Amino acid sequence: MNPLRSLILAAAGSDAIRRAVATAPGTRSVVNRFVAGESTADAVEVVRQLAGEGLQASLDYLGEHTTDSSQAERTVQAYLALLDRLHAEGLADRAEVSVKLSAVGQELDEKLSVDNAYRICAAAEQCGTTVTLDMEDHTTTDATLTALADLRRTWPWVGAVLQSYLRRTEADAAALAVPESRVRLCKGAYAEPADVAFEGGHQVDLSYVRCANVLLEGGGYPMFATHDPRLIDVLGERVRWYGRKQGSYEYQMLYGVRPDEQRRLAADGETVRVYVPYGEQWYGYLMRRLAERPANTAFFLRALVSRS
Ligand SMILES: Cc1cc2nc3c(=O)[nH]c(=O)nc-3n(C[C@H](O)[C@H](O)[C@H](O)COP(=O)(O)OP(=O)(O)OC[C@H]3O[C@@H](n4cnc5c(N)ncnc54)[C@H](O)[C@@H]3O)c2cc1C
Repeated sequence: MNPLRSLILAAAGSDAIRRAVATAPGTRSVVNRFVAGESTADAVEVVRQLAGEGLQASLDYLGEHTTDSSQAERTVQAYLALLDRLHAEGLADRAEVSVKLSAVGQELDEKLSVDNAYRICAAAEQCGTTVTLDMEDHTTTDATLTALADLRRTWPWVGAVLQSYLRRTEADAAALAVPESRVRLCKGAYAEPADVAFEGGHQVDLSYVRCANVLLEGGGYPMFATHDPRLIDVLGERVRWYGRKQGSYEYQMLYGVRPDEQRRLAADGETVRVYVPYGEQWYGYLMRRLAERPANTAFFLRALVSRS
């Protein structure tokens, strides 16, 4: 892995660095580029803006690796309040929610996290929207796919996430490429060991295309989460090759990343969903976004030392 990326991912776990970053004068401008804000109202406002531009959203209440059941409960409550608000404001058909099992108690008690995910899914169904289970590091893949299967027995629309950097993913894609199955395909955002993950970016991209083929060939609903211009071109070609109509798959990108490309695809008639994180615990998320791209890190460091 690129040493800068390893360094930033290591910083993501450091409390001292988190405090220094959170209190630096220029931090806010960088956070605002990638995070909708800290409150439910901030998140709903961003959904409204995106909807005005013809874009869908998936909202992520930030926070992960909870080892405290009251924090897990606060996360559930935040999602329930958000879903209520989306429904009340007539935006539930524009936005779903993305949930990390580790944020609702997976590390504390697996059953608690699945029960909590059930509560969020039940509320989402009542509000007329859906839920996708984010995928975290490889030590949680089996548990998350088991939870997914469990939730899908009640709600077949619960979305899965697969990461093309994992060697196992092509087989997982084959298992999930079934009718009604919503599957987000991304490259993967965590620092993973070579025995489970491809190391070179090229290998990860090739795996992405193989997995995309598997998903497009199956009867499910693939959700292509990438900003990679080359992959987006290949996906456009693959979609045509499999005879997929617009609306039978979608593209997904992160809030603040390639917004012009998001609008371009939407203007071409594609369904585009923007992943919108919000909440007070933005630090780990921001660090992963910075680790992905040296240019973002430079932008961030400049903002940190600026006085504004
Ligand atoms: C909607 C969505 C949901 C996701 N959910 C998960 C998940 O559940 N689990 C998980 O592990 N990962 C998740 N990810 C993150 C994903 O795994 C990658 O880490 C991330 O998307 C970067 O990969 P990429 O495909 O954009 O390609 P990259 O190879 O990282 O980037 C290709 C090109 O895209 C552009 N680009 C990429 N990132 C940025 C950026 N931050 N700022 C500006 N330009 C950029 C640049 O032009 C870059 O050259 C998600 C990503 C998206 C878009």
